Amino acid sequence: MIFAKQALLADGWARDVRLSIEAGTITDAVPDASAQLGDTRVDTLLPSLANLHSHSFQRAMAGMTEYRMAGKDSFWTWRDLMYRFTAHLSPEHIEAIAAFVFLQMQEAGYASVGEFHYLHHQPGGAPYADLGELSACIAAAAQTTGIGLTHLPVLYTYGGAGQADLQAGQARFGNCVDRFGELVARARHAVSALPGDCRVGIAPHSLRATSPGDLAAALDAHEGGPVHIHIAEQPKEVADIEGWLGARPVEWLLANAKVAREWCLIHATHMTDAETRAMAASGAVAGLCPITEANLGDGPFNGPAYLQAGGAFGIGSDSNVLISLTEELRTLEYSQRLRDVARNVMVVGEGSVGEVLYTGAARGGAQALGRKAGTIEVGQLADLVAIDSTDPALVALQQSQLLDGLAFAAKDSVVTDVWSAGRHAVKGGRHIARDQIVARYRAAMASLMASL
Ligand code: ZN
Repeated sequence: MIFAKQALLADGWARDVRLSIEAGTITDAVPDASAQLGDTRVDTLLPSLANLHSHSFQRAMAGMTEYRMAGKDSFWTWRDLMYRFTAHLSPEHIEAIAAFVFLQMQEAGYASVGEFHYLHHQPGGAPYADLGELSACIAAAAQTTGIGLTHLPVLYTYGGAGQADLQAGQARFGNCVDRFGELVARARHAVSALPGDCRVGIAPHSLRATSPGDLAAALDAHEGGPVHIHIAEQPKEVADIEGWLGARPVEWLLANAKVAREWCLIHATHMTDAETRAMAASGAVAGLCPITEANLGDGPFNGPAYLQAGGAFGIGSDSNVLISLTEELRTLEYSQRLRDVARNVMVVGEGSVGEVLYTGAARGGAQALGRKAGTIEVGQLADLVAIDSTDPALVALQQSQLLDGLAFAAKDSVVTDVWSAGRHAVKGGRHIARDQIVARYRAAMASLMASL
């Protein structure tokens, strides 16, 4: 049982809420209740967010790519360093990094993660004896941390638009559609050992890393569940796809695949207004990664037109250069303000920006990860976060201003507790297995740096 002084329930704020959880699911939520002996008492209870897009291993290179070289740095020079880095990662490194990254996500207030997983093979490209060896490392990290995992094995077949050959740096990623099917089966096996809220989807990496025929074949073979794809992140990618397929990436995808609610289109940065409206109407979730998109110089999302059209969205930490839920929310809004030279952009009509961002990302993130979550009500998974409204950053605010305070004025340190499908992994602001996970990460980094 959890007793919260206040809680944001599906139909609004309530006081003195007593929450019952059985087998990971909320079975009762009673406002104006009294705390009982043995209840876990918290200050303010919110539905927690899903982190819908992560490449956990990239956390280990955070801070290594911010030095300006002669000539013009770009997304594509960043990608070259990332490729060199991946050549040295062992299964032990990958598991240790993923566990540390998941811990940081939980401490920031996320209950679940969509791990968009494209490191599959040994350095050089030979498969491991178990094709799903590295998927099993991700599953093990989820087991260690208790995070709700939606594992998304990536189909990556070509090195660029027009079915170009894989480059040397992409050797660990590559699979044809048939071998990808075997890989997904092995990933399902690995994830089957985790709690029942964890699941497997698929992730065709991008239009440039697949082909129209391969994409159709992979979708035909898909057993159901989330489908994630990177799309329209960079102007060069838009130009390459338009030159090859005769349409802009989002335009092409919507015309050639049955994009619907189980889809998550990651970034979708460079869209026309017509593409933006069509994507919103598809029911798919826009997987926005504001900190990474700013770090890589991608550009701002077409937020106002997308919200006006009723589009679903969620938040992902993508490159994990910084893992901060509050920072993601404000970076999303600030990217819109800087472009439009305006304030309070991500709201249709009138209202609280923090509330639109937070509750929208909670619902959209859960949808994208195939989790029955995103609101606090009976029948939903107990994906919950408690924050401390008496923290100096929040203490002066009314209840109706709390989500604005969280999004714009607070740090993640206001998070006190996090539950993933009822698994209470963060207590008093600290992950319960923090010491061992951090020690293992430090050791893995020392060994990795020695090998570079
Ligand atoms: Zn990504």
